[in-house]
Amino acid sequence: MNPTAITIPSDWQSRADALSPDGRAFIDGRRVATSGDRRPSVSPVDGRTLADLTSCGAADVDRAVSAARRAFPAWRRLGAEGRKAALLALAGLMEVHAEELALLETLDSGKPILQTITVDVPGAISTLRWYAEAADKQSGELPAVPPGAAALVTREPVGVVAAIVPWNFPLEIAVWKLAPALASGNTLVLKPAEQTSLSALRVAELASEAGIPDGVLNVVTGAGRDVGAALAHHMDVDALAFTGSTAVSRTLLEASGRSNLKRLSLEAGGKSSNLVFADTADLQLAAEKAAFGAFYNQGQVCSANSRILVQRSVQEEFAELLTEAAAAYAPADPLAGLEGNGALISGTHADAVERWITRGRADGEVLFGGERHTIRGSDAYLAPTLLGGLPADHDVHRDEIFGPVAVLHAFETEEEAVRLANATDYGLAASVWTSDVSRAHRVAEELLAGTVSVNTVDALGNTTPFGGFKQSGFGRDLSLHAFDNYTAPKTTWIQFG
Ligand code: NAD
Repeated sequence: MNPTAITIPSDWQSRADALSPDGRAFIDGRRVATSGDRRPSVSPVDGRTLADLTSCGAADVDRAVSAARRAFPAWRRLGAEGRKAALLALAGLMEVHAEELALLETLDSGKPILQTITVDVPGAISTLRWYAEAADKQSGELPAVPPGAAALVTREPVGVVAAIVPWNFPLEIAVWKLAPALASGNTLVLKPAEQTSLSALRVAELASEAGIPDGVLNVVTGAGRDVGAALAHHMDVDALAFTGSTAVSRTLLEASGRSNLKRLSLEAGGKSSNLVFADTADLQLAAEKAAFGAFYNQGQVCSANSRILVQRSVQEEFAELLTEAAAAYAPADPLAGLEGNGALISGTHADAVERWITRGRADGEVLFGGERHTIRGSDAYLAPTLLGGLPADHDVHRDEIFGPVAVLHAFETEEEAVRLANATDYGLAASVWTSDVSRAHRVAEELLAGTVSVNTVDALGNTTPFGGFKQSGFGRDLSLHAFDNYTAPKTTWIQFG
């Protein structure tokens, strides 16, 4: 994403200590004391309690949806230019508060501060600006109809949108949903992940400060099985945009069917492959990018290229280069402003990822990594790890590990590479390394994935759609295609003869 002009301070520790985030939900333009309990929000960086987070009850979800419903007509009638100005004002305020947002994101999620201040926060701002600017550049259609009539096809906002987002890119994924939903005239109830709610809550406050009317952007906090499920079953939510696991996606489809047939867009899990052919021009670059694709964000990336398939004749050389490249993702103190990986989302999640390493070691071998680290008293840190010697139908090749663990596997032919890459229930992303343009086209055509990156990994931008095939879900984030999640075509037929 395009970086914006944000200055980077160095004394993150004292800035982090000075924060006292508010964990109350944000409904109808204000922080609210809700009907539910409160529970501590704990940082995986160092185990500190960041805030008392509200667990919203069903009554709070109702209040948020009602507020969004009341705000909808005026927000829609404000028109595209008015909404664009309001969203650009919010983007401006996010830039002013970039440092605070980056700290909240780092403390909540464990990401290194160097990444949240240079990637996550500027990325979210750039996406918000992109949709604000797109708002007043949409036009309808004038389809051919019989003489004596005219027809207009316009895209209408669907009404109240709920967005449920995960903890791996809390701010960016929240903005991927809220920016197109609000720009196209809907109002929104956002449910962040319970582990990482603080940046979304702060953005809702900033939205109010930016002049976005009460009720247009609400944030309800708490557990997915309560708050998320209440939104999914709600009779007055018109659309639900989700990013998270395939397991939860299934429950959302069911909830829509059992309630009001709310439209869904689901960005579910992935198990993406990176295919490295022997004719790759720059194997060193391929190894560096492969390390990024597998280990960036502690490997907690839905489109992580965690299956690395290498043509046998270059396997040994590639494995050596990858071992060197992975060193850049060694865990480091997230608040020190250093390069490297941060903490996983929690010690419990690191336990689960470590169990995969234990299985990989038992059934195959650990080619590098595998160590657990304790930093700042937290044990949520894991070294980048490469497994090998596992049969292609092993669970490590099929299941999403969602941590810094990749598996290396050799192939002989192009056909075999494509077959291995497609042998998964998911279809989110894939990468291909080759200097043969014909092969690049051929293989890209055969891969069932929402994004195929050629001679790079995990290519992503505001202008290109992101989402999956198969059990990776349906609907697309980013690009103009995202408007399809939040709008419906409307035909107005005028008969004058
Ligand atoms: P998750 O599915 O458990 O949770 C995601 C969100 O759903 C959270 O806000 C959670 O509170 C909520 N939720 C949980 N149970 C719910 C329920 N019964 N009803 C409604 N909402 C519920 O996933 P996670 O552990 O937060 O994130 C990791 C998963 O997300 C991985 O599987 C990963 O692949 C996926 N993910 C996918 C993408 C993508 O774009 N495809 C992006 C990021 C993460």
